[in-house]
Amino acid sequence: MPELTSSAADKIYQDLKKRFPDFSIEEYGKPEFNQAVADGFSDQLYQTQEKAIKEAVKYTNSNVRIDSLPKNEISQVIKRGAGLHSVALKSCLNYYAGQIESGNTKANARKNTNRYIERKYKERSKVLAQDSILNNYRQTEYQAIGDGISQGIFNDVVKIWSSSEDSRVCDICKELDGQVVGYNESFQTEDGRVFDGLSGAHTACRCVIQYIDRELFELGIY
Ligand SMILES: [Zn+2]
Repeated sequence: MPELTSSAADKIYQDLKKRFPDFSIEEYGKPEFNQAVADGFSDQLYQTQEKAIKEAVKYTNSNVRIDSLPKNEISQVIKRGAGLHSVALKSCLNYYAGQIESGNTKANARKNTNRYIERKYKERSKVLAQDSILNNYRQTEYQAIGDGISQGIFNDVVKIWSSSEDSRVCDICKELDGQVVGYNESFQTEDGRVFDGLSGAHTACRCVIQYIDRELFELGIY
């Protein structure tokens, strides 16, 4: 299993910073923070791996153009791409099939596909690292507000699910957007899915939780 070392985390962070200049996090740079990023990364990687492989195998009977490929060639690609999200793995299989279809030798097709898989890994790493960083931020903020409540700085606090409110917001987050619950309560969708807000609703979720003093919230001043 690939490991996200501190220096890898650092590289990803610098890259994120380049792509999103406003992106910053105070805890960044502390060893505990780097460890949290690394832990979150491998947890997520592990969780998606099994699912991705199962789904990739299912694709052999679906719209992926790999019907004509021998099983050992399919398994070579799957082996190399294990750990990728199922959608990315599917596109790797398609990429390989396309290489063969266009008349490339197996060796060249594999070489090009491996390069393609590496690219997909980099993209995936960025998403997971960004998720870990955001989740760390979400959890730190929750903790800080909790400390504020127990120290009497806040009387009572409500939390509001806040999506990015643009066209890329998924249906779950659209439904959760604006939902108001108590500090210790969870958000919920109509069909009963529960979210505590300590992590996103899904991978690459951009939602954050707003914490508002309940008194101000009820007066509409926030
Ligand atoms: Zn979201």
